[in-house]
Amino acid sequence: MAVIALRTCIGCRGIFPKKALLRFVCHLDLQLRSDETGKVPGRGAYVCESQSCVTKAFKSHKRINSLLRTNLSRESVMQFKQELLHTVSQDSARGKGHQ
Ligand SMILES: [Zn+2]
Repeated sequence: MAVIALRTCIGCRGIFPKKALLRFVCHLDLQLRSDETGKVPGRGAYVCESQSCVTKAFKSHKRINSLLRTNLSRESVMQFKQELLHTVSQDSARGKGHQ
């Protein structure tokens, strides 16, 4: 029997199957990167594939730093936010979003 892994979206705090969410990790404590395979080592967090959840999740870089227990600059966090927003808008253009 398959177990469905559930994770919390850091934007809306909703709980969803892991596969419906985007994972990102803080790679080597230096930079954020998205993890499409779910296998990148490092401290990670999940967010819905929706612009509103990404926006809420990345409201402040301090929030991301405390969630991932890291100390990234505001610039690098905000840059990654833009990347994620771009990814999410491409996905919804293909009708893949779940919201
Ligand atoms: Zn969400």
